[in-house]
Amino acid sequence: ADLKNPPKVVDGNTLVAMCLSRGGVDRMFGVVGIPVTSLANRAVALGVRFIAFHNEQSAGYAASAYGYLTRRPGVLLTVSGPGCVHGLAGLSNAAANGWPMVMISGSSDQSFTGRGDFQELDQIAAVKPFSKFSAKATDITEIPTSVFSVIDWAVAGRPGGTYLDIPSDVLHQTVDESQAQKLITEALNSRNKDLIENPRINYSEIQKSVELLRTAQRPLIVFGKGAAYAKAENELTQLVESTGIPFLPTPMGKGLLPDTHELAATAARSLAIGKCDVALVVGARLNWLLHFGEPPKWSKDVKFILVDISKEEIELRKPFLGIVGDAKDVIGLLHKEIKDDPFCLGKTHPWVEAIRNKTKDNVAKMEVQLAKDVVPFNFMTPMRIIRDAILGVGGPAPILVSEGANTMDVGRAVLVQTEPRTRLDAGTWGTMGIGLGYCIAAAVASPDRLVVAVEGDSGFGFSAMEVETLVRYQLPVVVIVFNNGGVYGGDRRNPEEITGPYKADPAPTSFVPGAAYHLLLEAFGGKGYLAATPDELKSALAESFSAKKPSVINVTIDPYAGAESGRMQHKN
Ligand code: ADP
Repeated sequence: ADLKNPPKVVDGNTLVAMCLSRGGVDRMFGVVGIPVTSLANRAVALGVRFIAFHNEQSAGYAASAYGYLTRRPGVLLTVSGPGCVHGLAGLSNAAANGWPMVMISGSSDQSFTGRGDFQELDQIAAVKPFSKFSAKATDITEIPTSVFSVIDWAVAGRPGGTYLDIPSDVLHQTVDESQAQKLITEALNSRNKDLIENPRINYSEIQKSVELLRTAQRPLIVFGKGAAYAKAENELTQLVESTGIPFLPTPMGKGLLPDTHELAATAARSLAIGKCDVALVVGARLNWLLHFGEPPKWSKDVKFILVDISKEEIELRKPFLGIVGDAKDVIGLLHKEIKDDPFCLGKTHPWVEAIRNKTKDNVAKMEVQLAKDVVPFNFMTPMRIIRDAILGVGGPAPILVSEGANTMDVGRAVLVQTEPRTRLDAGTWGTMGIGLGYCIAAAVASPDRLVVAVEGDSGFGFSAMEVETLVRYQLPVVVIVFNNGGVYGGDRRNPEEITGPYKADPAPTSFVPGAAYHLLLEAFGGKGYLAATPDELKSALAESFSAKKPSVINVTIDPYAGAESGRMQHKN
C-alpha cells in the first residue's frame, strides 16, 4: 500500500449521500438525530438542500407533496424507532395519494437485535402496509443497489412510498473511495430499466375509445391528480378544445385546464356526472371522491373509459374500456386519432348548452352569497377576498394549500385554479395536518411561486411549530388560518346534554377561543396579522403577498358559521 497517499475512506453515511446525489435527489426533508445526523450533513456537502423540520410527520407530508409536484421522489430522512413511526404518516399519505416518496430511516445496531437496543424496532415490518417496496442495507456494500432501487420503485407504475433501512453499524462501516465509486457504477448499470419505462399503449383501445366518444350523446372528460402528475395539461386542453366535450376536474385536477374555461363543468358537477353517457376518466380513481362511479350520483348506464398507469386499477373498476398508460401519452394519442376525422360538439349542442346554463345559474347563486360582506366573518366573505387577492398576484399563479372541513369545502368551490398542480389539499385520504408540510414542499419545489395556505385552525394546529421552519428558510408562504375556535367551530353542545364528572371541561371540539395564532410566527421573527373585518383582511393580504415572506393571517370566523364535518356529515 502507498503509505504517503492512503486511500480515502468513505463511511456508510457518505456513501448513502453520494448515491442519493447520483440518483438525482437534490432535496431532502427530515429530522436529524442518532444515527443519521452525519448522513444529512454529508448530503448537504454534496449539494442536496436539507429542510430540517420539527416533526417527521410534517416532513413526511412535505416529502410526499414534493414527489407529486416534481415527479421525482420526495425524500424523508428519519432517526430510528420513534422517528420511523412518526414518518409513517408521510409514507402512508404518499401511498394513499399515489405520490412518489422515499423514506430513509436509520435503525439500531444489528449486533444487538432483539435485546432492546436504543430505539430498536423491526422497521421493515412497520413500513410494510405503507410501502410498495422496501430494502435494508445489512452491509455497506449493499447501499448503492438499495438506494437506487427505492428511488426507482417510488416512481414506477403508480407512484408511491418506498422505504430504505440503514442500521447504525452499516452507517459507520467504511470502504475505500475507489471501491465506493465501483459499487455505485455497478449498481447504476444494473438498474431495472423496465421499472422506469411507461407501459406500451394498446392502440386498438385508443380507436375504440375515440369511436365511443364520437358517438356519445353526453360525453364528459374527468381528470384527476394522476393526469396532473403526468403533466397532461397540453394534451387535455387540445382534446377538450378540439372536441368541445365538457370537463370536470377532481379537487387536485383543478387547474389542468383553468376553472374559468367555458367548458368547465365544475359548477354543474351533479348534472355532469348524473347525466353523462360516456365518461373518459383520466388519472382519477373511481373511489369515494367520484362516488365509486355508481348510482345514484352516476347514471347506471354510463360507459367509463378509464385511463390509468396502473393495470390493477383498471382491473379493479372493470370499466367499459380501459387504457393502461401514461396520461400524457394516451391523451396525445386520442387527440391524434381524432384529428384524422375530427368532430366537435359546438356551443349549441344540447348537452354543452345544458351544462353551460347550469354552470351560469350556480355561479350566479354563489356570487350573490359571496358579494355580501358578512361580519363577524362567515366562510364565504373572507374566501371571496382571498380569491380576489390570489387572482391579483402577477406572474406564475400561487400554489394553494387547503385543509379543514368547512374551510376546504368552501375554498374548493370559491378559490380559482388557473394553472396545473397549484392545488394541494387533504387528498384521497382526507389527511388533516398536511398544511405546513405541503407549504414547505411547494415553496421548495417552486421557488418562483408564492404559496398560500387556506386552512382551518384545527388543521393548522397539527404542525403549527413548523412556522419556525418557514421563518428559518425564509420561504414565501402566507398561511391564512380560519379561526373559529375549534374543530368545526368550538362548543356547540346543548348544555343539558352534558353530564358526568368532567362536564366542566371544554368540548372535545373546542380550542381556546380567540387564540392569537398570528403571534406564534412573531415569536420567530415572522409577520403575523389579525383580521376580523374585510378591510383588515384585504390589507393583510396585500402586504403579505407583496412581501413574499413567511406570514400568518389569523382570520376571526364566527364560531357558529359552518357545519359539523363540513360536507361529510353523513359519515360522522
Ligand atoms: P384524484 O384524487 O384526483 O381523483 P386519484 O389519486 O384517485 O386522483 O387517482 C390518480 C390515478 O392516476 C391513480 O389511479 C394512478 O394510478 C393514476 N396515475 C398516476 N400516474 C399516472 C400517469 N402518469 N398516467 C396515468 N395515470 C396515472
